[in-house]
Amino acid sequence: MAKRDYYDILGVAKGAGADEIKKAYRKLAIKYHPDKNPGDKEAEENFKEAAEAYDVLSNEEKRRRYDQFGHAGMGGAGGYGGQGGFSMDDIFSQFGDIFGDDNFFGSFFGGQQGGRRGGRQSVGSNIRIKLKLTLAEMRTGVEKKVKYRRMVEAKGVEYSECRNCGGSGAVRWVTNTFLGQMATTAACNVCGGLGRTITSKPREANEHGLISEEFETSIRIPAGVADGMQLSVNGKGNAGPGGGVPGDLIVLVEEIAHEELTRDGNNVMYNLWLSFPEAAMGANVEVPTLDGMARIKIDAGTQPGKILRLKGKGFPDVNAYGTGDQLIVVNVFVPHKLNGEEKDILLKLQESKHFKPDEKSREKGFFDKMKDFF
Ligand code: ZN
Repeated sequence: MAKRDYYDILGVAKGAGADEIKKAYRKLAIKYHPDKNPGDKEAEENFKEAAEAYDVLSNEEKRRRYDQFGHAGMGGAGGYGGQGGFSMDDIFSQFGDIFGDDNFFGSFFGGQQGGRRGGRQSVGSNIRIKLKLTLAEMRTGVEKKVKYRRMVEAKGVEYSECRNCGGSGAVRWVTNTFLGQMATTAACNVCGGLGRTITSKPREANEHGLISEEFETSIRIPAGVADGMQLSVNGKGNAGPGGGVPGDLIVLVEEIAHEELTRDGNNVMYNLWLSFPEAAMGANVEVPTLDGMARIKIDAGTQPGKILRLKGKGFPDVNAYGTGDQLIVVNVFVPHKLNGEEKDILLKLQESKHFKPDEKSREKGFFDKMKDFF
């Protein structure tokens, strides 16, 4: 698919100024933010697309290259050659810049702006991972071990009270106006509102005293989840600087395709192929289900397009009561080629009145049956 024009994505003119671009991006970032659109893949794509467009158009050098060469100028180092070149972490790190001065957005987006406002408690950022599940696992729910990297407080970090704000995390100043004295309070710009600054830390720790470590945990996946759903695990994200509250682990569920069964909402769908003699004379056949093979009886005279139902063999509803079914759509196989003997038999059968479609099957084609069913 061809990439869309960055100006079109943000809905600004080619000559738009920095402020206008920033404003346009803010609007889109709020609209498509994943926390507001859980499980909505389209919103996530729009969110990423807007972030990428903003990243380029807000950077003078990148914007000049883009204006001159288009998307082709964005390849190579620092460019966006393939899908996923721009991660969610990159996007959220932009937010400090975009929403940093704005307390409303700070609280709106939770974790990302943690600790900016008057508190001593910081909040770590969220971590997003993908988790592939089979349909059988989604049906029953499952306990899964996951491994990922997260930021934790390094050992041996030492703090002392911030001298700029005296440990309160906030600075206050008074100005004289003709209306009298006005007091203004803002987060301390030295300690970022923590009230403490780092006095010593191990070499490998970052400026917040955090290091990256591999972490393994077990998460409980509830029965009935579906592809694209997001589960949030409290407190398993990155540590908050200065002993703050850790962010969350956000798990995006991905479906591993089943060889024969597909999912439609809470139902499981299966295409059953019968030979002509089986459909005509009836049969006992085996069909796959999400908990093993099941035997079903095919009545004599079963027409193609008939839908059989295995009650309760679908997915439990993850948010409500009720369980879906397995729907089996009957198809009848017509031979691709015939030898002389087979043709002779069929020619004889063709003359029999039982082999002419009757009134009943003429008036009820496949689509009418579907309508009856759903
Ligand atoms: Zn301070």
